[in-house]
Amino acid sequence: MSINIAIDGPAGAGKSTIAKSVAKEFGFIYVDTGALYRAIAYYVLAQGRDVNNAEAVEKLLQNIVPELKYINGEQRVFLNGEDVSDKIRTPEVSMGASEVSVIPRVRDFLFSLQQKIAAENNVVMDGRDIGTVVLPNADVKIYLTASAEERAKRRHKELTENGEQVSFEEVLEDVNKRDYADMHREIAPLRQAEDAVLCDTTNVDLHGAVDMLINIIIEKTGVKEGGCPRKA
Ligand code: C5P
Repeated sequence: MSINIAIDGPAGAGKSTIAKSVAKEFGFIYVDTGALYRAIAYYVLAQGRDVNNAEAVEKLLQNIVPELKYINGEQRVFLNGEDVSDKIRTPEVSMGASEVSVIPRVRDFLFSLQQKIAAENNVVMDGRDIGTVVLPNADVKIYLTASAEERAKRRHKELTENGEQVSFEEVLEDVNKRDYADMHREIAPLRQAEDAVLCDTTNVDLHGAVDMLINIIIEKTGVKEGGCPRKA
């Protein structure tokens, strides 16, 4: 049986950076499920179609083959054979991902892919509905959050470092808008699973947050750092 760690939380809570380090510590695969929603949004936008038009998006799904591959230990997302990992990181695609993610057929489309990866591998999987919907029986569930200002600050730094020209105010507005939409949508809204551990990283640096999660995982699963399971 594979070991599954589910990490959910709002945009910019540091999920990907923290989850990546935690996965490395245990020798697990890091799965960034947001990249799959982004890949779909990217495709819809590239076709010049409206991400809010559910009917149009549903029709386009039949042309989309999303794949997650691991190259030198790093997740890359492929869309119909093309590596789009870098192209999906723009603010436009972020918003588009949030918009296509409310469409039930889009969520169904990605559901089995995510479950299959988790069934076949030890994973640290991050997203919005991992502990609540995708992996309800995950060994450990973590709800990672931080204040909206702190999250916007981190996102802004990441975007500007990648050469994007955006102001802090724009990023903060985007973060707030996306959180609201993700928490209030009808299906699979972002919320803390009842059995998830709440981790607030507003005043915790990356190193501290990674340590916090490692300790929770060791305590809950008996897995040792380095990936040797202690439990039978
Ligand atoms: O995690 P990331 O910011 O890349 O996700 C982009 C968008 O994809 C989120 O705002 C959310 O609307 C959607 N998403 C989702 N369920 C997931 C992961 C992401 O609805 N498991």
